[in-house]
Amino acid sequence: MRVLLTGGAGYVGSHAAWMLHRAGHEVLVYDNLSEGHRAAVPEDRLVVGDLMDRPLLESTLREHQIEAVMHFAALAYVGVSVTNPAEYYQNNIVGTLSLLDAMRAAGVERIVFSSTCATYGEPETVPITESEKQVPINPYGFTKLAIERALADYSHAYGLRYAALRYFNASGASAESPIGEDHEPETHLIPLVLQVALGQRENIKVFGDDYPTPDGTCIRDYIHVDDLATAHVAALEKLQSTPALKLNLGTGNGASVLEVIEACRRVTGHPIPIVVEGRREGDPPQLVADASLANETLAWQPRYTDIESIVASAWRWHEAHPHGFDDR
Ligand code: UDP
Repeated sequence: MRVLLTGGAGYVGSHAAWMLHRAGHEVLVYDNLSEGHRAAVPEDRLVVGDLMDRPLLESTLREHQIEAVMHFAALAYVGVSVTNPAEYYQNNIVGTLSLLDAMRAAGVERIVFSSTCATYGEPETVPITESEKQVPINPYGFTKLAIERALADYSHAYGLRYAALRYFNASGASAESPIGEDHEPETHLIPLVLQVALGQRENIKVFGDDYPTPDGTCIRDYIHVDDLATAHVAALEKLQSTPALKLNLGTGNGASVLEVIEACRRVTGHPIPIVVEGRREGDPPQLVADASLANETLAWQPRYTDIESIVASAWRWHEAHPHGFDDR
């Protein structure tokens, strides 16, 4: 298929572009490069544009005879969404509605959407199944839930076929292509810890050690970005026979902040000093996926199932690219 990836120069998007290409699909990236990297996309596969540029979106879809969209372009920092919600509502909701409009106008009827476990808020039951109530506790999670709802409504009214893929914590780096995680500013736990190992930071701040978890720090389900990417390809192909998919993408294994840091110590051999700070606003204590529905529906299994192999994959990228992509 001919697939447009919005945000395809970003972390998860660029890995999905690579997997789609490998699976024989034709890829085109649409990215405003506000967060993404030109160097993460082959030169002739990039259209630089913004989601709010509705005419450019529509003409790109038409000219390249796009058959499906993977929509990654979004702001995705939980903490910033609490302090600057306006940006999140504008980019993640208004921007996506602009994309959906352009798709309707151009007759593109399939979309794979990057949703998130943050739509569940503080779940009543962990591991989390897709039937868990979605009650987000931060603006980021709410913007993603609003789009899930729009997709369901557009599907009902206009026949849109969609997959809402609820990622847990994307991590690691490509096993085959020279792409990896490079955010500016970096806020994610694993790359920050690895920056300590590289000597770029003195210590790692632990945001809260008084959560109701065994070691008092937050538990997350870290899922390798290549495993997310293969699930996207499978979901796109599944939309041929199924009009709507809502799936958790995780490993089903939780790791606490302290366990992640310990895995980083083992992988890098660096002592990695920690400083315990207060809780970060908007952080639920525990988010771990029950991903059995994705396993069954897509015949998909994550290849990386333990935190150490994920950290080792991230470390290979960070060691080889200590300052990230060289397009800064
Ligand atoms: N975290 C931390 N110190 C940091 C960055 C993150 O303790 O410098 C914690 C954060 O509070 C959360 C977990 O690590 O419990 C994962 O955070 P991250 O930002 O990587 O992903 P999120 O879960 O917010 O999507």
